[in-house]
Amino acid sequence: MRILVVEDEPNLQRQLKTALESAGYAVDTASDGEDAHYLGSTESYDAVILDLGLPEIDGLTVLDRWRKAGLVMPVLVLTARDSWSDKVAGLDAGADDYLAKPFQTEELIARLRALIRRAAGQASSELIAGGVRLDSRSGRVTLDGEPVKLTAQEFKLLSYLMHHKGKVVSRTELIEHIYDQDFDRDSNTIEVFITRIRKKLGPDLISTTRGLGYSLNEIA
Ligand code: CA
Repeated sequence: MRILVVEDEPNLQRQLKTALESAGYAVDTASDGEDAHYLGSTESYDAVILDLGLPEIDGLTVLDRWRKAGLVMPVLVLTARDSWSDKVAGLDAGADDYLAKPFQTEELIARLRALIRRAAGQASSELIAGGVRLDSRSGRVTLDGEPVKLTAQEFKLLSYLMHHKGKVVSRTELIEHIYDQDFDRDSNTIEVFITRIRKKLGPDLISTTRGLGYSLNEIA
């Protein structure tokens, strides 16, 4: 899952990027509204964390422009403490959730997880396909109850497929959602990760649709 963090305060931005990366997300950052608007309009994100007070273009305007352009990715806005008018304006502009500063990073990540899950139509934090279970809260994966160790990239790929169960996901879409902007993207590596996941979780979990992509099967 790939996240855009829009925050002009350098320390907070860095802190969020580090925390989200260690929670298993690919993270891009923007420090002003113009950059944020451009990235959000041209790249594929599973969710956006958007500060409202930003240089160049303010966060509310950015959000409003995205929504008017038909972009539907979940957006969590960061508001100033106790500013109820910010919260109302954010929700009116199309935000899916908000958090007042200062906040605990754990709470932000929990809310983000819930947003991504809801956007994928999943109510539970545990994603299930046959004998495979992925707990998006703890990052644990089990096969028939036994823990399975995945690398960070394997986990990201599996998590994306499990959030889109039954849908054929192209290699390009996978690349866009598991790597951040600065990553040296090589579509051949996707093939390698898929092979490794099949080896660890069974050959029937992921099917290949030639020329189209991969999909996660109900029965593993
Ligand atoms: Ca700010």
